[in-house]
Amino acid sequence: MPIEALVKPRSVAIVGATDRAGPARSVIESLGALGFTGAIYPVNPKYQTVLNHVCYPSLTDLPEAPDVVVFSIRNPLVPEQVRLAVKRGARAAVIYDSGFAELGEDGARLQAEIAGLAREAGMAMCGPNCMGILNPPARVTTYKQTVMNAAGMAGNVGLISQSGSVCIAMLSDLRRFGISLSVSAGNEAVTRMVDYLEYLIDDPATKVIATFTETVREPERYVAALDRAADAAKPVVVLKVGRTERTQRAITSHTGGLAGESRVFSELLRAHRAIEVDDLDQMTEVLAVCQGERWPRGRGISVITGSGGLAELILDNATAAGLDLPPLSSDERVEGERVIGRITGDGNPFDAWGNGNYAVNLPHAMSVVDKSDRIAAIVYCSDTGNGEQIGHPGRELENVKMLSEQAKASSKPYYLMSTRPGLMNNVQAKALREAGLVQIGGTRQGLGAIDRVGRYMLGPLPARAPKNLPRSDALAAANAGRRTINEFDAKRILSGYGLPVTREQRVGTLCEAVAAARALKFPVVLKAVSDAIAHKTELGLVAVNLKTEDELARAFSRLDERLNGMSPRPPDAAFLVQEFVADGVEVFAGISRDPDFGLVLAFGLGGTVIELNRDFALRMLPLREGDAEQMIAETRAAAMLGPVRGRPAADVNSLAACLYALSDFAQAHADVLAEVDLNPIKALPHGCVVVDALIVAGPAKG
Ligand code: ADP
Ligand code: MG
Repeated sequence: MPIEALVKPRSVAIVGATDRAGPARSVIESLGALGFTGAIYPVNPKYQTVLNHVCYPSLTDLPEAPDVVVFSIRNPLVPEQVRLAVKRGARAAVIYDSGFAELGEDGARLQAEIAGLAREAGMAMCGPNCMGILNPPARVTTYKQTVMNAAGMAGNVGLISQSGSVCIAMLSDLRRFGISLSVSAGNEAVTRMVDYLEYLIDDPATKVIATFTETVREPERYVAALDRAADAAKPVVVLKVGRTERTQRAITSHTGGLAGESRVFSELLRAHRAIEVDDLDQMTEVLAVCQGERWPRGRGISVITGSGGLAELILDNATAAGLDLPPLSSDERVEGERVIGRITGDGNPFDAWGNGNYAVNLPHAMSVVDKSDRIAAIVYCSDTGNGEQIGHPGRELENVKMLSEQAKASSKPYYLMSTRPGLMNNVQAKALREAGLVQIGGTRQGLGAIDRVGRYMLGPLPARAPKNLPRSDALAAANAGRRTINEFDAKRILSGYGLPVTREQRVGTLCEAVAAARALKFPVVLKAVSDAIAHKTELGLVAVNLKTEDELARAFSRLDERLNGMSPRPPDAAFLVQEFVADGVEVFAGISRDPDFGLVLAFGLGGTVIELNRDFALRMLPLREGDAEQMIAETRAAAMLGPVRGRPAADVNSLAACLYALSDFAQAHADVLAEVDLNPIKALPHGCVVVDALIVAGPAKG
């Protein structure tokens, strides 16, 4: 359904128009303030004119079919008026009032009624329960708030919000960016976030898209739109709320329990190159950074200050936020100190006070770090307020001049940073903007924004060509019902995909167990295996490090007794005699399926504490080249896998290979796979081995 008439109407009818203060009057006045040149049609049987415009008694009396009808009326009256709008051929509607689907069943019925009318007529609809749409470049608005001064409002940020108040918040400070479109989408009865997103991707006025999201209504379309935005080099900045709410579903594996909705959504955004932010401060800073003529092409930031104290504060904050502030190299330090005098610390932040000759030292510091290929962005930290009660007059514009001269000689982006978010000198901000430079605010928010855009500009990791091995028939067969596949069968399936698994034999009797143990060589492990038993230890069905036939026999009768104690004893229950892998670091890897976004892979330290410490890495499938290595590096497992207390380092490469193999396996069986748990995998100095495995078959949907 086209939404042009909704976002860029050439004529606006307002049902419920009146001279009294309120949304209808705001819209009419705002259209005037923006210089709207199209037709304005107030509709209200009570008046001849509204704000000097001819007022029509009914929508059916309009002289033409309007592009958009704004409904500034109470919810019980809406369906009848929507009918009239359809009858008059309106192409779009904006409905402000609440009391629809957000308010239980009656409201939902009312909403379904108007949505049905609109869809049938091919009429785009914003709301209900929304604040409308503001389009400064097109000089048109159906937004509820009054535009008082349209100057400087138009810009390149497309904002889509499922909350009207977030539109208010974002529009309340337009000093550093302007708006190409602002949408308060409300309940999205007909036209949805993804429709606006698709529109903005193609909108030439829009350079960056900011979204405030409570619900993703069409996951597949949403993901496709993110990909298209990435291809168009338009960053989509996403602030998602309501992430603690979680749909309960049946979960067998540990991985299934770990991969909660919010973590998966973050990974989805990463995989599809959206920029995630946690709050409106961060969002604002990212939008500001995107206004620069140049964007950082990497993560390394050099922060230049004249204060040792600030340098320490910034370093503490940046380190805690995981930002990359590369220290000066020894050559850079020598070159810096040649002019500046002694440089404290490791030179990032770069305290350029030195001998106190600011006018020389600051530009010199900048030119030193500018040459470093580890530095993608240069930030000068200087606080200036509005009102100039305190400070050196003229300093603001001197800073702008200095920065723009440095920037001219460089291909890297330069920023001016105030240490507190949102605090800036308006004259300075304007001058910076005119020079193509950007003011950022707050060390965490501002530097974090540079980091986010820098990562965006690095682009995705290269795609991997998956190994195309034959699919497992056993798994496809198990998919007939949602079925757990026991350790022994799971390992056979996985080893077909190149995963290294323990040597083992499935046996039924003690006699067979002893023969198997002799073949494998003691010490061995004895376990019970059955599709009905997902977790063995909690039932006392694992005996490790059995060194003799005697120990094996005792373990056998113990496990056999426990199986007999189960009611009923699982009919497929058997025993597994397995090599005992004495050494190695226990890690886990697993697959789970998000109901909306598909398969995800998790990795972390093994053991039962994973659910408690939640220290694990997550990626959407398929993995890209380098994902596995990054996953291993970003969890606490990384430290454990290094050389610890004389123990040799674990073979991280073979562990990475294992994760890639798991990814390939899962991709190849995506339609019949629900969950996989490899817990533990033992990471050894040479190679690694899957010690326990569990697969849950399941159809892709449902
Ligand atoms: P569960 O079904 O309870 O997860 P596992 O097969 O993972 O059972 O065994 C529980 C624990 O016993 C493992 O986490 C591991 O520490 C140890 N273990 C199991 N098999 C072996 C083995 N072959 N070699 C060494 N340790 C093992
Ligand atoms: Mg296990």
